This record gives sequence, C-alpha cells and structure tokens, in this order.
Amino acid sequence: MKPAMAYDVVIVGAGAAGMMCAIAAGRRGRRVLVLDHARAPGEKIRISGGGRCNFTNIDAGPKNYLSENPAFCISALKRYSPRDFLALVQRHGIAWHEKTLGQLFCDGSARQIVEMLLAEMRDAGAELRLGVEATAIERDADGFRLEVAGARLACRALVIASGGRSIPKMGASGFGYQLAERFGLRLVPTRPGLVPFTLDTASLERLAPLAGVALDCVASHGRTRFREAMLFTHRGLSGPAMLQISSYWREGEEIVVDMAPETDMFAALKGARSAHGRQSLATALATALPRRLAQAIGEAEAGTRNLADLSDAVLRRVGEAVNRWTLRPQGTEGYRTAEVTLGGVDTRDLDSRTLQALEVPGLYFIGEVVDVTGWLGGYNFQWAWASGWCAGQAC
Ligand SMILES: Cc1cc2nc3c(=O)[nH]c(=O)nc-3n(C[C@H](O)[C@H](O)[C@H](O)COP(=O)(O)OP(=O)(O)OC[C@H]3O[C@@H](n4cnc5c(N)ncnc54)[C@H](O)[C@@H]3O)c2cc1C
Repeated sequence: MKPAMAYDVVIVGAGAAGMMCAIAAGRRGRRVLVLDHARAPGEKIRISGGGRCNFTNIDAGPKNYLSENPAFCISALKRYSPRDFLALVQRHGIAWHEKTLGQLFCDGSARQIVEMLLAEMRDAGAELRLGVEATAIERDADGFRLEVAGARLACRALVIASGGRSIPKMGASGFGYQLAERFGLRLVPTRPGLVPFTLDTASLERLAPLAGVALDCVASHGRTRFREAMLFTHRGLSGPAMLQISSYWREGEEIVVDMAPETDMFAALKGARSAHGRQSLATALATALPRRLAQAIGEAEAGTRNLADLSDAVLRRVGEAVNRWTLRPQGTEGYRTAEVTLGGVDTRDLDSRTLQALEVPGLYFIGEVVDVTGWLGGYNFQWAWASGWCAGQAC
C-alpha cells in the first residue's frame, strides 16, 4: 500500500538541533517534515539562559565537551562554528551581548531565537507538525516508513533530534535511545548533568542557615576545575560551579571546593592573629568570605574565643575547611532539573561529519541525544546547531 505522503527528510524533535537541521536540509531543496509531540517548538530554547538564551559560546571547542570520544565533536564544530550561528542571529537583527567567558546571550528574549528559527524554517519550506508522535517506524529499501497521527508517511532520511531525558515535563523522552537500540546502535549509559547537588540530612541541618549565600569558588573533581559562583540552597549546593562539576561527578565520589580562591586562609588567619589578636575568627574570615558563611565557620570552630586564643592547629584546620572543603554529595536533583543528559547514542556508531548511523544509511542522530555534552555556557546549543546543520547538509 502506498504511503499518504512522501518526504525526503522527517525530523523527530523540533528543538534546537531539529530546527537547525530542517533549515539546512530545506535550503538544499529537500522536502522536510519536522514533528514534535510537544505543543510548541523550541521550548528549551525559550526557557534557556534565564529567558535570554545563552545561544553559543564563541570559544567552543572539544575541551568544552564530555563524551566517551572527545574528538567526535571537532568536525561538526568546525563546519558550523559559533561565528556561523552569530552571523545568523545578526542577520535577523537580534541584539546580543557577551556576558563572560565567551558566552553570548540575547539582550531581549530567548523567544527571539525561536522566532528566528521558525522564520528560517518557513523560508526554507520545511513543514512543522506539533502535538504528534512518530510510530510504527520501519526501514525498507527506499528509506523509512512511519505513522504520524494515523497517517502513513515515507521518507528517505530519518533524523532523530528528540533530545535527552532532562526536564520530562517539557517533553523529554527516551524515544531517541530506544530507536537507536532498535536499529542496533550502542548507547553510553545516561545520567543527569549540569544539575544541583543534594546533601545528606546532617549536612543540610548544619548548612541550612546558609541558604541563599553565594560566593566565588573553585570547584574540583580530580583534575577538573571550574572557577565560578556557588550557591547554598535549602536542599544542597547549586550555582554554575556546582552545575559544571556535577557533570564530572559520579555517585559516592568527593568534590573539593576552594571557597576563597584568592586567599591562603591559614596564612591570612595567622597574619590576623599577629596583627589583631582580639579579633574574632568570624571577623577575620569575613575579609575573604561572605559574612554569613564567615559567621557560621567562626562560631563552629572558635565559639567565643578570639584569634589570640587559637592555636596554629586550629587555624590550619579552618584554613583547610575554607580552601579545601571536601564533601561527598548525597546525590543530585536528577533529570527533574538537570540542564542536560550525559551519555546517549554512542559516537562509535555515527559518522562525525554527517551524524549518520554508520550501519543504517539514512538514519541520523543529532543534538543532545548523542553522547556529546557541553559545559554550561552556550556549548550545548552550539553542539545542537552544529550537529543539526551537518546532518542537514547530508540528508
Ligand atoms: C533550564 C535549561 C536551560 C538551558 N540553558 C541553556 C543555555 O542557555 N545555553 C545552552 O547552550 N544550553 C542550555 N540548555 C541546554 C539546551 O537546552 C539543550 O542542550 C538543547 O536544547 C538540546 O537541543 P536538542 O534539539 O538536542 O533537544 P531539545 O531542545 O530537548 O529538543 C528535543 C525535542 O524533541 C521533542 N521530543 C522528544 N521526544 C519526542 C517524541 N517521542 N516524539 C516527538 N517529539 C519528541 C521534545 O518535545 C523537544 O521539543 C538548557 C537546558 C535547560 C533544561
């Protein structure tokens, strides 16, 4: 029986990667359908970057990505670079600024990026269907057959851009992983990334008074270090430094936090004891730490004693606690709040230039569903744009 509609390319997922792929393929004259089970396209773009969308990072390179194969992303990032996406943003007259560390944000709203992609898709002739799923997917000699809302479709190329598992209430599903397995591709186990840490009850009770305190820190896991802000919360630790390091952390492991990266706290406390022996420990700590944190550490370690009453051993312990706070998070907030999903479709089974499955011609995986995960700071969208564009050149 003939299918009702024939397309060159069907793309599952109208997120960052899927829309970019549709634009690239449409501009090459392909007949493209993008479908999404959500009611609106690009929902994660809309909420990203605190509503301003950190749409790329001008310095994005392989060092900014986690993957079993760190070199896999190089080809796509070179072929469609942060400057290519920035040029698109500028062509659409969207005002932007560099915040810090090469991170580019919209001056106005993230919705401008969604609107830009939709306008480009329309211009490229790509069709968008929302609130539908692809079912009964089968491969045949000409490509793929599938059903969408009861109608049979055929396509030469099928592109999976269904994203990761994070934030299920925004449409995240395991669809891409299941399909990959069905067609014989390997998977790297998935886990939440860029996610706040939770702490055990005893630590939480001790740290509860600090909820809301933020500070500059260096967070480390092994040899990986990030210097960014950390935030104490009612449930644990958050802020960019914690989100970054969470992507490297595994259950049961320790992280180390330097809460005063500019100060050797033991040396500073010894100096303060010589110069102002009657000062309290909290006051001395407050020269390098937020006052509430200095107060909490000072009271816990010295009670009512002043600096002159404290031995070198005590000052060294306090210095260590500040410069090398070593902790074992209980867990993370999980996919409910994670910004990304680590792991995914194993890059050994994909062509790094086209994102096509090596053993399944016509089947492509792009964006977050692939085992390529960026740091916080615009790197994840850049991977979505780059991998989407590359597949769009090939499908
Ligand atoms: C709160 C938050 C803020 C973020 N901020 C930034 C940021 O500022 N900068 C940055 O670089 N990255 C940011 N990220 C990460 C970034 O949003 C993702 O890495 C990126 O959206 C991945 O793009 P994607 O197209 O692969 O997947 P997604 O954008 O997740 O799109 C996947 C699409 O597939 C659809 N879908 C899923 N399953 C099915 C199915 N079975 N059938 C049909 N459709 C399906 C979904 O509804 C969704 O529309 C943020 C993430 C979150 C959660």
